[in-house]
Amino acid sequence: MNSAQGATKLWNDMSGKYNYVYKDANGNKVSLKVNFQLTTSEVTPEKNQSTRQAVEKAAQNDPEGNSYRIAPDSSFDSETVMGVTAIGKYARVRNGQEDVNTGTGGHEVGHTLGVGDGNNIMGGQESTTITPSHISEVLNAIDSTPENPNQSTTTSNPRATIQIENNKLKTDKEYENFRKGKVKSAD
Ligand SMILES: [Zn+2]
Repeated sequence: MNSAQGATKLWNDMSGKYNYVYKDANGNKVSLKVNFQLTTSEVTPEKNQSTRQAVEKAAQNDPEGNSYRIAPDSSFDSETVMGVTAIGKYARVRNGQEDVNTGTGGHEVGHTLGVGDGNNIMGGQESTTITPSHISEVLNAIDSTPENPNQSTTTSNPRATIQIENNKLKTDKEYENFRKGKVKSAD
């Protein structure tokens, strides 16, 4: 498993562990399962193209795409920085931090999902723990309407889409209630 696969697996492994719970227009509780379906693909640079150019171009050309690359120490401004995600889209992980257990890759993937710096996996220490508050941050981006059911507002940059599969949502009011939902543990 390469570094990007390991990092996205941390998030995909959260699938089924949380529900998104909201009240419908009649005040009835509706609970939707939260699943992550992040995928990766490898990019081969063309002749005269750097790895960076190749992966960032691939991300630009994919409406849901982000890039992930292992970068040399010399490309980081500070010795304490283990990874960086530029504009929530172009993630780079310091050479030596490839292993999923360092938490760096998963941290940067979190940034591509709109999650800010915080604690556990989004903190500065080695951690691979994703908490309910991180899941909430991802889903806080839901801004769907009847016209645009999968709309999200994390950023103007194209990135992962929140696909909403719920045939009960039809009116503005229903979407309004839906957007007030909360993340709860599934057990
Ligand atoms: Zn960060």
